Amino acid sequence: MNGPTDQTRHQDRVWSVAEHLDDVLSKIDPLDPIELQLLDAQGCVLVEDITVPVALPPFDNSSMDGYAVRAADVADATESAPVALTVIGDVAAGSGELPGIGPGQAVRIMTGAPVPPGADAVVPVEWTDGGTGQGPAATMRAHSAAPQDAGGEVRVHRPAAAGAHIRARGSDVTEGEPALQAGTVLGPSQIGLLAAIGRGTVRVHPRPRVVVLSTGSELVQPGEALGPGQIHDSNSFQLTAAARDAGAIAYRVGAVADDAETLRSTLEDQLIRADILVTSGGVSVGAYDVVKETLAALSAEEGTVEFRRLAMQPGKPQGFGLIGPDRIPLLALPGNPVSSYVSFELFVRPAIRALMGLPEVHRPTTPARCTEAVASSPKGKRQFLRGSYDAEAGTVTPVGGAGSHLIKAMAHANALIIVPEDTTEVPAGAEVDVVLLG
Ligand code: AMP
Ligand code: MG
Repeated sequence: MNGPTDQTRHQDRVWSVAEHLDDVLSKIDPLDPIELQLLDAQGCVLVEDITVPVALPPFDNSSMDGYAVRAADVADATESAPVALTVIGDVAAGSGELPGIGPGQAVRIMTGAPVPPGADAVVPVEWTDGGTGQGPAATMRAHSAAPQDAGGEVRVHRPAAAGAHIRARGSDVTEGEPALQAGTVLGPSQIGLLAAIGRGTVRVHPRPRVVVLSTGSELVQPGEALGPGQIHDSNSFQLTAAARDAGAIAYRVGAVADDAETLRSTLEDQLIRADILVTSGGVSVGAYDVVKETLAALSAEEGTVEFRRLAMQPGKPQGFGLIGPDRIPLLALPGNPVSSYVSFELFVRPAIRALMGLPEVHRPTTPARCTEAVASSPKGKRQFLRGSYDAEAGTVTPVGGAGSHLIKAMAHANALIIVPEDTTEVPAGAEVDVVLLG
């Protein structure tokens, strides 16, 4: 076939930010669920409905340190006329054997211990003499001491109604009740509930494994001295940290030289441990833009990566595709540090969160008053300027300029200011939308 194919026409046009994002997300499904230990499932999305197998609490138990009694026995107790009960034993949390209580009897009981048969109320130790036969001052000391002698006495000086200070079986949840629904994001409290109902493992979408690889023959590891023309590789660190922050398990491969064969073999090696691949650099139209050269030329078997221009600044050149036998998503980000980070926030972070099956994949956006004017924003492009957002004042202040090499300004920003495609300048005090970087 002669003339431009559908494919080349497709690549020639300029894509909007939304179109590129939609394309990425339309090709990403949540990872297949796996069974994980509770703590490994933190932050993950549950894929099963969880039903309570046993009631919580599993048995009636005391909410106080005190005495398990028959409410009827202490109904008339007062400060001046305390009721004396015979203490027939001790029940600590975890006790299996419980003495039965008859009329005129009590059992010393600790918080969380099962209420013994016959008792229907707990009198807190503070409402008694603590079994000392002395005043309330000795009460607490007595209670924390060794088991009380059976046959001793306790004087109760306040009545307790039936059920007082007893946490009834099933008062939290009853068996068969739904505990958590599929789709729930597991935070600390959800993990606590799962543990309380006896679940050791749960089925969730796992955290994606993200492989981060930067390209550039000029790149040197931080910690090493720079030679002429060299710079430190900051992108692979920034992107790996960003991937972790998004919820992924991130592997930093580090910098690969601008050499097609090296890039190809490195990617091939990394494919086995990746749920998503992120590269930085080498996607423009320069002579050594090896990522684009290599990945645009993959065979049909190896996968397809499309390189496109976006109506966006920074971050105009972007590559996206699915590679390897398992068709792993790959996002090829531009090399300028601000471009790669902004691209990550806009496209890779949502992709990671979509792989996790999270309901909310995007950073929150909020309107804010821009404290300074923005002059000459490029027409036809959505610009993302770095900003310092003040939640209390509802304002945002640009940090640094538009240059995509301004790493320090990025580090001092907590937001991205969005200047829409058709806006070429923002007067001071005007309202803008701001992406909160958290
Ligand atoms: P490229 O997209 O490869 O042409 O790179 C664009 C610019 O970003 C160049 O100035 C590179 O030196 C710089 N750059 C590329 N990769 C990195 C990196 N990993 N860390 C810091 N700067 C980079
Ligand atoms: Mg490069």
